Amino acid sequence: MEKGLNWRSLLLLLSLSALFAFLSPDHEIMLHVFLSNQEEAEEPFTAKHKLDIYVDGKLLSSPGLGAEGGTKHYAVAAEFLDALDKDFWAGETLRCETIPYAGRDYLCIEDFCTAQGISLYREADDSKLWCTSAAGDWEVPQGYRVPVLMYHGVGENLRPGAELVVTTESLDAQLNLLRERGYTPIWFEDLKHVDQIEKPILLTFDDGYLDNYTELFPLLQKYRIKATLFIVSGYLDSPHNVNREQILEMQASGLVSIQCHTQYHLDLDTLSAEQQEEELCWSKVELLKLTNKEPYVIAYPRGRQNEETLTICRKDYRFGVKMGGPAYVTGDDPLLIHRIGIYRSTTPEEFAARFP
Ligand SMILES: [Zn+2]
Repeated sequence: MEKGLNWRSLLLLLSLSALFAFLSPDHEIMLHVFLSNQEEAEEPFTAKHKLDIYVDGKLLSSPGLGAEGGTKHYAVAAEFLDALDKDFWAGETLRCETIPYAGRDYLCIEDFCTAQGISLYREADDSKLWCTSAAGDWEVPQGYRVPVLMYHGVGENLRPGAELVVTTESLDAQLNLLRERGYTPIWFEDLKHVDQIEKPILLTFDDGYLDNYTELFPLLQKYRIKATLFIVSGYLDSPHNVNREQILEMQASGLVSIQCHTQYHLDLDTLSAEQQEEELCWSKVELLKLTNKEPYVIAYPRGRQNEETLTICRKDYRFGVKMGGPAYVTGDDPLLIHRIGIYRSTTPEEFAARFP
């Protein structure tokens, strides 16, 4: 009798959890986290100092704690895990050891991020620490064809050169066509799940022209389409380019990923290794501090790079994009990704034939 009851309870529990999983709108992006508690710790926190912790762009409400020596930092585990980008970690099981301290469970940021391949960037004075999933060490399923489109300006300001500025009407029609034909515009970090995405495509816009905010952004909102903007950090205060506020507004929409296009848009292959390092790294840090997310994609100005560029980028970036060429196939060198240029002279017929 008792045995039968246990079976029934078990069945009821199973069907209830299946029902909850089905009813939950987030069930596809549920993050499974296993917590395993350690004993109450005193040592790691005895000489603590406090610092701001950003996880995937979000500032944790409780400050992080730094241990003496500065090599390890601790965050409130529940807040940290909650701030992780759920789309990025969709379907993953993360294991996390927590340490009880002063009535709360903490995790060691360095240990957790190293184990999960999350990128860490620490301010030199140890006052801030950024943890960015997308910029970390993650695998791309291989052999998937992903066209990467290259745009620049949008609208009627032809300052960059008429060919580089598509009309707003053309772009509207192109986005509409991609949507109608079942393409899914993604960000580079979505390549993590490329095997589950229907007709993935990457839309990229170079140089950060002001019309990316005034013309492009409303279209992205109209179609709920994702795009990547390559920003030249040294142009941020130029009246012809998007400013800091506009970048943050576009990022907050969940439609725009902000990535690097160096500091001053110089031809990298004409610079010394030292100058290249400055162009590539300073711009990355400036954008990181603005967006609180570490950029992990570089667009080489005018597509130009050399061996030294690639050596620097292999340690600082996950992806690098050039100009011209065929569609990217995942597994090909991620630092030499070709892009399909879309220009003012690209006709609707040409565009439609390219993206069947
Ligand atoms: Zn450019």
